[in-house]
Amino acid sequence: MADPDESALFVRPGCITPEAPKDLIARLPRRRPLSRQQTVDGILCGDRAVLAQAITLIESSRAADRELAEMIVEDCLTHSGNSIRVGITGVPGAGKSSVIERLGAYLTRERGGGESEQKVAVLAIDPSSQLSGGSILGDKTRMQSLASSEMAFIRPSPSRGSLGGVAQRTREVMLLCEAAGYRNILVETVGVGQSETAVHEMVDFFLLITLTGAGDELQGMKRGVMELADIVAVNKADGANLSAAERARSEADNALHYFPKQANGWTPRALTCSARTGKGIAELWNCVLEHTDLTKANGWFSVNRQYQTRRWMREIIEQGLRQRFESHPSIRRRMEALEKDVLEGRTTSFRAARTLLEIYSGPNPGGTP
Ligand code: GDP
Repeated sequence: MADPDESALFVRPGCITPEAPKDLIARLPRRRPLSRQQTVDGILCGDRAVLAQAITLIESSRAADRELAEMIVEDCLTHSGNSIRVGITGVPGAGKSSVIERLGAYLTRERGGGESEQKVAVLAIDPSSQLSGGSILGDKTRMQSLASSEMAFIRPSPSRGSLGGVAQRTREVMLLCEAAGYRNILVETVGVGQSETAVHEMVDFFLLITLTGAGDELQGMKRGVMELADIVAVNKADGANLSAAERARSEADNALHYFPKQANGWTPRALTCSARTGKGIAELWNCVLEHTDLTKANGWFSVNRQYQTRRWMREIIEQGLRQRFESHPSIRRRMEALEKDVLEGRTTSFRAARTLLEIYSGPNPGGTP
């Protein structure tokens, strides 16, 4: 054995390893942005750091980043789509993040299957962060154990932009996650606004998580959302709450029967589950699979996705047109005065709108706005 004193690794007592000078650290090359090809290759290999970097590009408001992001999404498009997209909503406190954590554990560890069937991406749309600057979904540390799993990718809601803009970005993120091999996409949103509709329009299956004893004000809010649900899951069905949860399930089941039949042949139903004990979570996922099997067999699954992509395209056009219109210098100059004229009854909304549209794009030979 070599004399330890002779080893190059031996540190003599009293010898201090000099620290790297600060200016040297500053001069070290920073991580360079990846090229379009490198990013796409990284995503297709399932590299989570590259995926996260690409999502940052998608969420950026810089025009150059957006352009690069769009090209990356387009490159990934042919590798995307092979997934089940599930929307999850419920009032704050219903247990969305707890259910997702449990469901995530079930999919990534307990259920078995190949790696691709196990991978879970969790995305979020949180309208509260746009409205108030605060966030219902994003601020607390959530889904800690799922977040540490190699098989999971969790991305909180973008904190800037209108609901339409955030929804569009989430769709793009979803496509990238699919290209990175995530077969299970969970899109979470809070049941307090229009975001449920936005999420419903980007998923294959919509899950409403509810709880017993929610006040009347919550019930009112739930009715509209309930109509969108493929499954209503009464969570916290454990301990002393078990029989109340069963009653709530039966009430929800009854209520679901009053909604018009879904065109895809699926009959929505209610079940109970507990994120705390894990009971009902496997059954919940079996419903998702049953729905997927049914709608794939009757053709609805792909028809619905096609319909959704066409809608996205039209929405993007509408958003783009509105943005261009509102930022047009002549429109900005005239808009305020014309609005005042409308409010004070000097002109009609119709004429004011037509004047602005003609300023923007010239007279319309058809005569309509
Ligand atoms: P979110 O706001 O909808 O995401 O709800 P959370 O997942 O943060 O849960 C809200 C509270 O309910 C937390 O204190 C959870 O521990 C609790 N909780 C969630 N799921 C269950 C459950 O199945 N049983 C019980 N007893 N408590 C639960």
